[in-house]
Amino acid sequence: MSTLEIKDLHVSVETENGPKEILKGVDLTVRSGETHAIMGPNGSGKSTLAYSIAGHPKYQITSGTVTLDGADVLAMGVDERAQAGLFLAMQYPVEVPGVSVSNFLRTAKTAIDGEAPKLRHWVKDVKAAMGRLKMDSTFAERDVNAGFSGGEKKRHEILQMELLKPKVAILDETDSGLDIDALRVVSEGVNRAKDENDLGVLLITHYTRILQYIKPDFVHVFVDGRVAAQGGPELADQLEAEGYDKYLPGDVSEP
Ligand code: ADP
Ligand code: MG
Ligand code: MG
Repeated sequence: MSTLEIKDLHVSVETENGPKEILKGVDLTVRSGETHAIMGPNGSGKSTLAYSIAGHPKYQITSGTVTLDGADVLAMGVDERAQAGLFLAMQYPVEVPGVSVSNFLRTAKTAIDGEAPKLRHWVKDVKAAMGRLKMDSTFAERDVNAGFSGGEKKRHEILQMELLKPKVAILDETDSGLDIDALRVVSEGVNRAKDENDLGVLLITHYTRILQYIKPDFVHVFVDGRVAAQGGPELADQLEAEGYDKYLPGDVSEP
């Protein structure tokens, strides 16, 4: 049983006009086996939340805490966060020229476990995971993210998640760019990790489409750098029908 706890998180970025506060006090707790969807309009700070937990240097944590099973995540290096059991799939994964998917995965697994996986088991595990994700075996020899399509990036992301077996995964979905096939692959991977490893999931999304495949236990409406409302899965349906208007600051409703 694991718990990721975000408390009163404030985050700023440096701009030409000085620091600008993007996250304005986020409170959120994700436990093993739970799926939390974060939904909100563009620019509300959803990706900033993911990057901040990932330890991206651009994001300045000005106050608040993030802990995983009581351990201070914000004090950890990026590698230590992964070792602690956090999986942070980034919205725009970087290309890693000259490093094959196969080597990348083994390096990541070794870093997280503290020892290299036994080669025979590892090769079998990778093959099996790639099979489940319906990935061609030649994929393992390609350079990481070089020329990957949107769907391939997602498959690679979920492949990592399957092999690294994190406790809590934060998935910042650009599901607008996912075709139905890729959406299904991602969803099946997430659901499998929930069932088999009791994974806790923080699923960041702009659209409700992916929630037809990954059923959230909790839905949080994210507006202007904080959680403006929360509820169960029915809240996602309500957002789909009504949009975010009533959660936006100021009077934006029709007369
Ligand atoms: P979302 O993922 O919800 O669309 P983001 O976290 O990407 O939102 O962005 C939140 C807000 O932070 C946006 O208004 C964006 O313009 C602003 N922002 C992010 N990075 C910077 C930056 N380096 N300088 C100025 N504003 C930024
Ligand atoms: Mg954001
Ligand atoms: Mg975003």
